[in-house]
Amino acid sequence: MSIRPWRDIERRKSRQVMVGKVPVGGDAPISVQSMTNTLTTDVKATVAQIHAMEEAGADIVRVSCPDEESSRALKEIVREVSVPIVADIHFHYKRAIEAAESGAACLRINPGNIGKREKVLEVVKAARDHGCSMRIGVNAGSLEKHLLERFGEPCPEAMVESALGHIRILEDLDFRDFKISCKASDVFMAVAAYMQLAEVCDYPLHIGVTEAGGLRTGTVKSSIGLGNLLWAGIGDTLRVSLSADPVEEIKVGFDILKSLGLRHRGVNVISCPSCARQQFDVINTVATLEERLSHITTPMTVSVIGCVVNGPGEATMTDIGLTGGGNNTHQIYVGGLQDHRLKDKSIVDHLVGMIEKKAEEIEAAIARGEMPVQMGH
Ligand code: SF4
Repeated sequence: MSIRPWRDIERRKSRQVMVGKVPVGGDAPISVQSMTNTLTTDVKATVAQIHAMEEAGADIVRVSCPDEESSRALKEIVREVSVPIVADIHFHYKRAIEAAESGAACLRINPGNIGKREKVLEVVKAARDHGCSMRIGVNAGSLEKHLLERFGEPCPEAMVESALGHIRILEDLDFRDFKISCKASDVFMAVAAYMQLAEVCDYPLHIGVTEAGGLRTGTVKSSIGLGNLLWAGIGDTLRVSLSADPVEEIKVGFDILKSLGLRHRGVNVISCPSCARQQFDVINTVATLEERLSHITTPMTVSVIGCVVNGPGEATMTDIGLTGGGNNTHQIYVGGLQDHRLKDKSIVDHLVGMIEKKAEEIEAAIARGEMPVQMGH
């Protein structure tokens, strides 16, 4: 029994598949992924975008392969990056084979869309030969005609039925190294579809609310949808779909996982909204602080609270805490205990210095084996 049972999330038991070096499912950390939006044939731009995503913590990156040049360009891209690459294929089975040959770690393809059994067999053979896993990607917006006729409109039941159809094709070929997504832009439909799918199979689930919208609205929608699923223990890898820079998708993905205590990466800042009682400019301090701390990957919690109303209480639950005090004299806490006062100095510079030092200490302790490697590393 955990000491804080109200924080426990019991993850659905799924089988594990590998996306290159990244395990997905089972007890693996929930991985965060995104997709490039450059032209895949523009290798330089695509590699630069993948590097930016790696920097933000991406575990897996997907790249579209709409034509032969793209699936061939993948070879150069894979060589230049360290995250495993998922090749996104629609319909054309040849692209899947080329992508597997080019070093893709996973093929996103729906076997039911490939056509004849021999073609599916060829794709499965290429996946096996090159150690690729697959992702079945059901989307409410592109359900099979017979399912739409049977169910009348896109609905969770039709989506699950579609997924089961694709699953059967791969299982018949004795191929089980795949994960499944069942996305819809409607939060209710996506959540219901995943909940139903989670009941009927043990394959790892790639969760997401598709075409969620712009940075703010899409983040809210994704947080509700993915938050519900993750809280219920469902989801082994996720993508936040935003009409925004893919780096933002990675950041939002991590923030969702961090909020639920499912992954820890970088500094988690707890800060108050500020009010007339604030003893320093909380909003600007936090904005600058987050910017200056974005390079830190060591999991840590820092509280930045405007006054004594909530400052001391929050500080007891953080690694480093700051509470605003009168006369420009603020209280610093370390490990939940009062440590020293900070008078007339730059709050941001002081905290950044302390946090960087603490991060080094934690990393050194991990290297010496005195601390467990935290999820997210
Ligand atoms: S902690 Fe203090 S400054 Fe911050 S919102 Fe609450 S009362 Fe206002």
